Amino acid sequence: MLYDNLGINVKGHLTVGSVDTVSLAEKYGTALYVLDEDKMRENCRLYVNAMAKYFGEGSLPLFAGKALCFKGIYRVLEEEGMSADVVSPGELYTALKAGFPAERLFFHGNNKTDEDIRYGVDSKVGYFIVDNLNELEILDAYAGECGVKQKVLLRVTPGIDPHTLEAINTGRIDCQFGRPIETGQAEHFVKTALQKDNIDIWGFHSHIGSQIFEVQPFCDAVDILLEFAKKMYDDTGFVARTFNLGGGFGVRYVESDPQVDIEGNIKALSEYLENGCEKFSYPKPTIYMEPGRSIVGNAGLTLYTAGGVKDIEGYRNYVTVDGGMTDNPRYALYEAKYTVLMANRMNDEKEGAYTVAGRCCESGDLIQEDVLMPTPKRGDIIAVLTTGAYNFSMASNYNRICRPPVVMIRDGKDYLAVRRQTFDDLMACEL
Ligand SMILES: *Cc1c(COP(=O)(O)O)cnc(C)c1O
Repeated sequence: MLYDNLGINVKGHLTVGSVDTVSLAEKYGTALYVLDEDKMRENCRLYVNAMAKYFGEGSLPLFAGKALCFKGIYRVLEEEGMSADVVSPGELYTALKAGFPAERLFFHGNNKTDEDIRYGVDSKVGYFIVDNLNELEILDAYAGECGVKQKVLLRVTPGIDPHTLEAINTGRIDCQFGRPIETGQAEHFVKTALQKDNIDIWGFHSHIGSQIFEVQPFCDAVDILLEFAKKMYDDTGFVARTFNLGGGFGVRYVESDPQVDIEGNIKALSEYLENGCEKFSYPKPTIYMEPGRSIVGNAGLTLYTAGGVKDIEGYRNYVTVDGGMTDNPRYALYEAKYTVLMANRMNDEKEGAYTVAGRCCESGDLIQEDVLMPTPKRGDIIAVLTTGAYNFSMASNYNRICRPPVVMIRDGKDYLAVRRQTFDDLMACEL
């Protein structure tokens, strides 16, 4: 099995956190998101403990809310001692509604509106991650009006290509996030921010991409940030208290993906940082990281019920499920790989290759192509693993399909965290 929280019970059913997925499908209906809270907590602890141990006090993991955002998530995060990123006023609202402490929130976004900026300051978010000069000006002015000295991290782009998917690679110079170091624009950004009365520059932020399996790209980012920070110090006397290295550690979607050793990587990175600080004679900053996928990805799976099965002679076989790109658009977006299992017949022999299609009127609505499985029949329960990140948060109501609920698993028990959308919910905004 891909993860240690998955198993097969005596009925030949897939289990998650020792709960039978087929009974979950019966109890809550499908399509259904399942999130193993114990697994998520284990992932949080891995980061919290390793970062404190190797980077030292004050270093923190911030959960990237865009990976999975609903109220129940913030309760878990708070209990596990995590801080959190929000990238939009909607995510900020969700975190605040859940009672998450505002001072532990980091407000991201490459296009915060004036209204967003006021909302963030009024909500007393701990830190703004400022993306551009425009935002800096407006934030400084509004913080001044409120008599606040706003803590910020300045987002810079280190110009690193971590060899990941194009769509989730954000550290290159040519992208819409942050200010590039190489062109001198990051330097101008810092010097401008230093002139602002109501801005307290806490440190620098860089995010190089996602689904990264090695530590080297992060070391490269540390090199570039240190050299940059040193230059800023020489020019202005400013010392950054923190480097935020962003998110990005990968998770295993399929057996051939490697297992990232998060603790080992954090240890290696901390040694690298220490050497770098010595080399540049720069005081060691605290480190923030922003894991999203590696906190919730492997804690989630999706359950569907099989509907139509089609053999197109001379071509392919299809099995259609009662969900699709509306609850998981990642295959349609970038042909993301997934492990697909027949949850109610785990011990049956795999007899053929089936392309798992969704129910939308869209030929691109596929979950995965050519999956080896027992010959499917209507009513079989199909499980797609590793859907904890970027599924619920990317879901849509295309074709007026209601969003699935989220069921969480804690200590061998299941409970509903987000209920299924209803037709009335679909109508809620319509006058
Ligand atoms: C997407 C993103 C993250 C989270 O990335 P993961 O790959 O899910 O860990 C963190 N920080 C920023 C700025 C991001 O854009």
